[in-house]
Amino acid sequence: MGFCMGVRRAVQIMEGEATPDTPVFSVGEIVHNPHVVSRLGTSGVHQLPGPDELEGDIGKATAERVSKGRVAITAHGVGERVVRELESSGLEVIDTTCPIVTRAQRYGQKFVREGWHLLILGDPGHKEVRGILGWTYDAHGKSHATIVQSPELADLKRLIEEFPGGFPNKVGLMAQTTHKVEDFAKFVGNLMLLQRDHNFEFHVVNTLCHATTGQQEAAARLAKDVDVMVVVGGKKSANTRHLREVAEEQGCRAYHIEAPDELQKDWFNGVERIGLTAGASTPDSSIDEVETRLRELLAA
Ligand code: SF4
Repeated sequence: MGFCMGVRRAVQIMEGEATPDTPVFSVGEIVHNPHVVSRLGTSGVHQLPGPDELEGDIGKATAERVSKGRVAITAHGVGERVVRELESSGLEVIDTTCPIVTRAQRYGQKFVREGWHLLILGDPGHKEVRGILGWTYDAHGKSHATIVQSPELADLKRLIEEFPGGFPNKVGLMAQTTHKVEDFAKFVGNLMLLQRDHNFEFHVVNTLCHATTGQQEAAARLAKDVDVMVVVGGKKSANTRHLREVAEEQGCRAYHIEAPDELQKDWFNGVERIGLTAGASTPDSSIDEVETRLRELLAA
């Protein structure tokens, strides 16, 4: 549980590069965790608005805010246009995109170049998904990808029926890296069922992150064994929310908290065993603080 390889790596790179004279400015939120963001500020790593918060050329807008130091692309990655604009701003750019996210971006780019339409199972509001989408534009500025939010048969049927210009017959399938493997399998299986009477080619790429699927499997095993699960992580963190869902799917009551002061003693009345897990953007220190507070509450 806790920091995954990608987030750990991004934080280490930024902290390693930052000095008091040459701070590092992340373009957008480094991780979905306000405690980590505030701690990094003391190491010379500061946060700037990300591509979704700025209008126009992000390179120019960022250069206007940064007089010295370097800018960093965060673990969730950004689209191709954002990379180009940052690079042409004259600022030095450090890319800490998680290698698993980079792989998904490269596949997105490859699909479009080879004439496939890409369907991405994911949350359209998530930074990583918007970043992948940013690699699916052709030379005329047209994206050849669609973000699909639901893997359910009825929703996919509607998607196929209402697809502008007719549903393509060469389709690449991938998922947001933190998606549940069951949902991705359902997505692929349901599309096969719906298109069984048509000529089509599907190219499925497993873009799921093994760190996340491992975490989900461990959370599911733990949830079977306890009465209540406490899941620690930022409220905006998709993988932390999934961990809570995974625990609930096992019939376990689960609470998603960001900080120890959110714990309530009455959640644990009559409870014998409590499970504790944390999302991929949760630092070890936050997990330790929650555990300590939990033990204090139970001892009181
Ligand atoms: S959850 Fe996986 S894909 Fe996302 S940053 Fe962490 S290691 Fe990379």
